[in-house]
Amino acid sequence: MTVEHGAAGTPGASASTRSSSIPRNPGRHDLGMRATLVFPNREIVERYYVPLIYTACRTCYSELAPDDIFERAVDGRIAPEKQRELISRVIESGHGSTIEHVVFTFAITGVSRTLSHQLVRHRAGVAFDQQSQRYVSFKKGASTMLPSTIADADPELRERYEDQIEGALELYSEMMAAGIPGEDARFVFPNATRTNLVMTTNLRALIHMSGLRLCTMAQWEIRRLFQLIRHEVFAVSPFLGSFLAPKCVPLGYCDEAGNRDGHCPIRPHKDAVLAVWAERSGKARRLPEPPGVR
Ligand SMILES: Cc1cc2nc3c(=O)[nH]c(=O)nc-3n(C[C@H](O)[C@H](O)[C@H](O)COP(=O)(O)OP(=O)(O)OC[C@H]3O[C@@H](n4cnc5c(N)ncnc54)[C@H](O)[C@@H]3O)c2cc1C
Repeated sequence: MTVEHGAAGTPGASASTRSSSIPRNPGRHDLGMRATLVFPNREIVERYYVPLIYTACRTCYSELAPDDIFERAVDGRIAPEKQRELISRVIESGHGSTIEHVVFTFAITGVSRTLSHQLVRHRAGVAFDQQSQRYVSFKKGASTMLPSTIADADPELRERYEDQIEGALELYSEMMAAGIPGEDARFVFPNATRTNLVMTTNLRALIHMSGLRLCTMAQWEIRRLFQLIRHEVFAVSPFLGSFLAPKCVPLGYCDEAGNRDGHCPIRPHKDAVLAVWAERSGKARRLPEPPGVR
């Protein structure tokens, strides 16, 4: 049986390849996965999403009724730039409930079970539905993902990997043919098995997830997924898409323990920032008192 592998992926930097540059971008390769924004479309986002978020923000500081504010925002009596300005300020201040009023639904296809296991760990403000390995019987064998480190490895090692995957899928097919139920035959599926999901998330949760998963410390496949997701959101709203960034970007520093060596230079590690702060505040304390104080 031939295993239907996807295109090779690119891992993030390993300890042995670390340098002071941004770890290699998984986006340079087509991994055979897709993320499609199925709702909303550009028209809905442009017409209603920004006004809706603006209404949530403005209601806190206004005597006007929320429906009144919404109407003025939608019909343009409140300039779109003014709306975006308030929204940016509120998001930067961390008042996150205001961006829980809008949601995005993605069709995610061809990702590995390794990825989906990480993805569904997010609990707040996000809903998932995933292709069942119980109710779907994979007649031609399940499709799998091939990491680039294995694709580029010693050919003998790669062959052993492929044999292992093929063996597992063949056993699955034999068990299904012997009448073993799919819910049990699936126990032999490897983590490399591809899967499909629908994910609906509010904007707050999407920004949070993107902060974690666009970080170069994230695993290459899920990092790639969030690059695709960001691309989709940008296509309907460059303004809202601009908030999807590695968490160090809005923070201004990196808080990942694994980046204490500063190998990812997107932002300085917080230890380095605190060291500079400690030095400066120490110097400030050591300054001689101005004459005439005593
Ligand atoms: C680089 C990386 C490596 C990881 N490695 C591992 C690993 O080795 N092992 C492992 O098990 N997991 C690992 N994870 C998963 C991680 O621990 C989280 O489970 C996952 O990222 C979900 O994020 P979250 O906890 O922010 O949850 P979300 O559901 O996205 O929640 C969003 C936010 O809501 C709040 N929140 C949600 N639920 C609660 C609650 N019950 N109580 C209080 N506040 C809540 C929190 O502020 C939380 O940050 C890793 C994640 C990353 C990004």
